[in-house]
Amino acid sequence: MQYDHILIRYGEMSLKGKNIKQFIIRLQENIQAKLKDFPNVKVKRTQGRMFVLLHGEDPKPIMDKLQKIFGIHSLSLAIMVDNDLEKIKEAALYALKENTDVKKFKVSVKRINKDFPVRSQELNQILGGHLLKNTEDILVDVHQPDLEIKVEVRLEATYITSSVIPGLGGLPVGTSGKSLLLLSGGIDSPVAGYLAMKRGVQLEAIHFHSPPFTSERAKQKVLDLAKQLTKYGKAIKIHIVPFTKLQQEIFREMPDEYAMTIMRRMMFRISERVCEQESILSLTTGENLGQVASQTMESMHAINEVTNYPIIRPLVAMDKLEVISISQEIGTYETSILPYEDCCTIFVPKSPKTKPKRVKINHYESKHDFAASIEEAIENIETITVYDKKDIEESFSDLF
Ligand code: ATP
Ligand code: MG
Repeated sequence: MQYDHILIRYGEMSLKGKNIKQFIIRLQENIQAKLKDFPNVKVKRTQGRMFVLLHGEDPKPIMDKLQKIFGIHSLSLAIMVDNDLEKIKEAALYALKENTDVKKFKVSVKRINKDFPVRSQELNQILGGHLLKNTEDILVDVHQPDLEIKVEVRLEATYITSSVIPGLGGLPVGTSGKSLLLLSGGIDSPVAGYLAMKRGVQLEAIHFHSPPFTSERAKQKVLDLAKQLTKYGKAIKIHIVPFTKLQQEIFREMPDEYAMTIMRRMMFRISERVCEQESILSLTTGENLGQVASQTMESMHAINEVTNYPIIRPLVAMDKLEVISISQEIGTYETSILPYEDCCTIFVPKSPKTKPKRVKINHYESKHDFAASIEEAIENIETITVYDKKDIEESFSDLF
């Protein structure tokens, strides 16, 4: 006897009315994509839930993958047996014994198959009795059990599951369209990307870099951060914008205290152009209210003037500590704190305006024509796609 299935529950998605079918199909595809390393494994849909059929594979690494897939509410290891009382008893006992440290348990039977000859209540008692008889120092406690063994008698078979392991929740990546993540090398923007993905958004990323002031290693850092995000979704296309010339022009031509805000406006302008090229309908940033000079209400107002694309700012109202804690959980923190220079830290004006005004900025911007440099930056964008490990092997095998 061993666990041969993983039961996947998809919580929030069951509320999604008409779209539910699409959501479930997308979730199944996302799961299948992440489990490609395990060729024997199959993913099956049934009424209201999904099963992974293990076919002899070790469940541990598969559970690890499933715990990084948005749209999964919770998971349980499960045993499937025929609708046969003796087999159900044996499986329930296995499920109980697999969990050490259990002092109090409870059996919950759900009989969906009304042809099964033993009724729920009676089956509860039979199984409870069987488990008590075959274990020592374990009691039944229906109110506060350490472990609930769930038995579901369905038409095709009976499933026995024990511990419920939480999933990430959220919506399957790809069900909420695409967004262009402004990805710096910092702590915030990868977390913003992660949270957008959690709401079903598929990401592309854009990064502004300023060689030789920013190094190859700083660029690599950004690629590494994006790669970390692919663990929670699909491959990510990153548009690397050569920003040096435009940035130097801004700092040469514009008043020092407005340079930062104008630089941000340029980032949004260029990002919007990439969105147009890539049919993307929104931007995502790691902006957070009140952190630094570029993130006051006034500066957001000034920066936001140049685009009417929706801007997803998942961190806008979070505390820095909350953001750090998420970045540690998702594995981007260690990379984010590496000390490589960022284009924004290189060209720091001495006293940036914390309350820039749109009229003033428009006045200064009208004095100089940046169009040629913007076009040049866009023309020289380098696009790199980063993959979760398995995807890379696939893209190679596509070549042959
Ligand atoms: P982060 O930790 O994400 O770098 P931050 O707290 O340093 O954010 P800012 O430097 O004000 O804040 O940047 C605000 C947002 O602007 C970033 O979260 C990111 O979305 C975007 N951004 C900043 N610098 C770059 C860059 N070089 N390339 C792409 N996007 C950037
Ligand atoms: Mg930063």
